[in-house]
Amino acid sequence: MKKMQFLSILVITAFIFGCKEEQKEINGSAVMTQAAEVVVQTREVQDPVQADTIEVGNVTRTEEEWKKILGPEEYHILREAGTEPAFRNAYYDNKKEGIYYCGGCSLPLYSSNTKFDSGTGWPSFYAPIDPKLVERKMDRRYGMERVEVVCAQCDSHLGHIFPYEGVPTEERHCLNSLALDFKQTDI
Ligand SMILES: [Zn+2]
Repeated sequence: MKKMQFLSILVITAFIFGCKEEQKEINGSAVMTQAAEVVVQTREVQDPVQADTIEVGNVTRTEEEWKKILGPEEYHILREAGTEPAFRNAYYDNKKEGIYYCGGCSLPLYSSNTKFDSGTGWPSFYAPIDPKLVERKMDRRYGMERVEVVCAQCDSHLGHIFPYEGVPTEERHCLNSLALDFKQTDI
């Protein structure tokens, strides 16, 4: 009889411990999930391979609002489709590894992985981090037909896209440094 009692206690104890263990696992996996999400958020900026995790929202501001958050030069480039001078801009010769963000809304747009020296005096890339991050528009200003490239999230002017032989996409995204913010990262 005593043996039976002992066995019952053993079974009950085992059950209680089993529940605790399960509880722990649930808590553990919840913590793990949160940690994993943080890692993904960090990596989407640092590593272009995570491009599919970058979400493109919709940033709309009035011209007055744009003028408040941008300097006059940035405003001219981003909102009036201006062009900065060749060879006299921040990033044309920048060879550091990192990500180039939209100067209007901070969306990560281009990576040093696709930057190349075009010799034109403007920062040149053969592709954005992901095609969804930029939009193409026909630009017929100044009597020319050019393909304008704008940020997909805030519609700010970045530069133009030209045919270019010798790079994987056979096109050059000719951008204005003033339209971009560069942050150095280990890619
Ligand atoms: Zn933008």
